[in-house]
Formats: sequence, structure tokens, C-alpha cells
Amino acid sequence: KHPSPSDDAPAGKAKLAVWKFTSCDGCQLSLLDCEDELLTLAGQVDIAYFMEASSRQLPGPYDLSIVEGSITTPEQRELIQAVRAQSRFLIAIGACATAGGIQALRNMAQVDDYIQIVYANPEYIDTLDRSTPLSDHVNIDFELRGCPINKHQLVEVISAFLNRRRPRISEHAVCVECKLN
Ligand code: SF4
Repeated sequence: KHPSPSDDAPAGKAKLAVWKFTSCDGCQLSLLDCEDELLTLAGQVDIAYFMEASSRQLPGPYDLSIVEGSITTPEQRELIQAVRAQSRFLIAIGACATAGGIQALRNMAQVDDYIQIVYANPEYIDTLDRSTPLSDHVNIDFELRGCPINKHQLVEVISAFLNRRRPRISEHAVCVECKLN
């Protein structure tokens, strides 16, 4: 279950939250694979919400939210609004979050046709017609592209946002509309 908004704040550290929408988890695994690199940021960041890695779930608001996955269900469409409302900065990571992902193939067909073919009880499936990137729903402060993302680029982006500077990353990998400047 996702946390609800709160006014609590950790002392001296930025609160980091990691969210998953429709995705394969590969980009979150890139973050988990950053263990050594994240140690260099350990004094600056408090991982308050990261279901893939920990049962610890501190409520928002968050200084930085990292979001994997596209929006494919009515529930997700509401949740991304709540995540945005709780997050000072919101970073979309990976092709799913920045472009809709492989699941956006449904956008070129009738999703009901797939549901009838794939599921034994299609009446239980509640899904949107299209898979869409986060930016179709909320303002994004930064997009890190890739499938999966590059872990070194991810650490650079986190470090940049924590230190209020522009990430030093190739423009091919990111959305250049960084909101820090
Ligand atoms: Fe998985 Fe690729 Fe989506 Fe990342 S962008 S969650 S690796 S499918």
C-alpha cells in the first residue's frame, strides 16, 4: 500500500522515494545495483520509500521521487498525481516512464482484443486503452532514458538534484528540459 501525504521530514537528509508503475523492474534493479555508488551519497539521502528494496515506508512529502513505469490503469493515473503532489522533484527513469515502453504497442491496437485473448476472466481486468509516459499526466523535472537506464547516469542525476545543479549527462540520454536552471 502506498503512503499518504505527511508533513514529517528527516533531519539533514533529502527524502528519496522510488515508485513503480507498469514496467519490468529492470530500471529499479539498476538502482539496486548502485549500492557502492549510493554510499557516496549516504550522508545526503534517506531512502524513505522503495518497495523493491525495503519494507520501510515513510510517508511524504519527498524531496526527490524516482519513478519507473508507464501509466496503464485508472488507479495508476490517480496515483501519479498523488506522487507528483508529494514530490519536490520528480524524475522519470527508463523507456516505460519516458515513452510508454514496450507495453505501448497496445496503443496501435484495440486493447479489448488483447484482454479477450490473454485472460481467462477478462471481466476482472480494468485497464486503460493506452500506455502513456508520465509526462502525459504530470510535470516531470527530469527524464533519464534507456532500457534499462545506465546506473552511473542515474547516480549522477540523483547527485545533481541533491546538490541543485544540472546533471552532466549526454543529451541523448535525457530530456534536456531540466528544471534546475
Ligand atoms: Fe524494464 Fe526497460 Fe521499462 Fe526499464 S525501461 S522498466 S528496463 S522495460
